[in-house]
Amino acid sequence: MRQSQLFTKTERNAPKDEATVNAQLLARAGFVSKLMAGVYSYLPLGLRVLNNIENIVREEMDAAGGQEISMPMIHPKSIWATTGGWDKIDVLFKIKSRTEKEYALGQSEEEVVTPLVMRYTNNYKDLPKAVYQINWKFRDELRSKSGLMRGVEFLMKDMYSFHETQEDFERFYAEMKKAYLKIYTRLGLTAKVTEGSGGAFSEKISYEFMVLTDAGEDDILYCNACDFCVNLEIAKEKEGERCTRCNKGTIAKARASEVGNVFDLGQKFTKAFDLTFNGRDGKKQYATMGCFGLGISRVMGVIVKISRRARHHLAGVGRAVCGASARAWRRRWRKSL
Ligand SMILES: [Zn+2]
Repeated sequence: MRQSQLFTKTERNAPKDEATVNAQLLARAGFVSKLMAGVYSYLPLGLRVLNNIENIVREEMDAAGGQEISMPMIHPKSIWATTGGWDKIDVLFKIKSRTEKEYALGQSEEEVVTPLVMRYTNNYKDLPKAVYQINWKFRDELRSKSGLMRGVEFLMKDMYSFHETQEDFERFYAEMKKAYLKIYTRLGLTAKVTEGSGGAFSEKISYEFMVLTDAGEDDILYCNACDFCVNLEIAKEKEGERCTRCNKGTIAKARASEVGNVFDLGQKFTKAFDLTFNGRDGKKQYATMGCFGLGISRVMGVIVKISRRARHHLAGVGRAVCGASARAWRRRWRKSL
């Protein structure tokens, strides 16, 4: 189809009610259109970008052994009450039906996927397993002013892995780390992995994938020689110090945007639903789980921010991400730095 036939038009001025650069640029170029705060329509060009990011993520998840499924976005209250999330998670979107029954809109799917996968897991030979979906998620934000970066409705890839032991989760995490870094490279982004706190999902450790950008929302410290990286908020190290991990590099500070996260869920969810499998010794055992998130619409916002910093013309971003190969897009991106 010819560009002249597109039903959208570029606009000279940013919409008055749009505070963030990523959404302003995308709205002006006719990639997205805001319905209300944190909720957007993806127009023909914007949807192509979203689909291309999605396909790169899908290819790498399939290559890493993930099995794609699609889970419901609307959930009964009961499963969220079982894990305590109904009362504990303040951003959980709750809705009431005229039947007086209450429902939650998915913001993560542990409550759905745990009973689903464990239904087919009888003994240790059925593990490990990894299933994922690419689907819309919801957060009941008090204020949503970050454009595509933190929407009320957002597109996310969420993978859930099930393991016999903690060691097997660690093995799988190492594989997924490689897959994630490959995804970011294919998207023309430079990513680092930090260890953060577990947040609402887990008492255990979490890992965050951060893309280096001056327009980021977080400060990170990283080693210029090895892959050590930590969020400044929880860092014991200081900028300019020698790295204690490799004893070679120097600790540097940078701004970054979070583009993916991993939660070591342990046995929290399999215990909450009391779902077991038969272990090697014949005894009942709880599976250990991991959650691997990657915000597809958020990544689109990050690419826009970085491209702008790199003095990219917005049309270039569209053409590159929509039409050109990942390699051409990367070459173009590198050249612009
Ligand atoms: Zn180092």
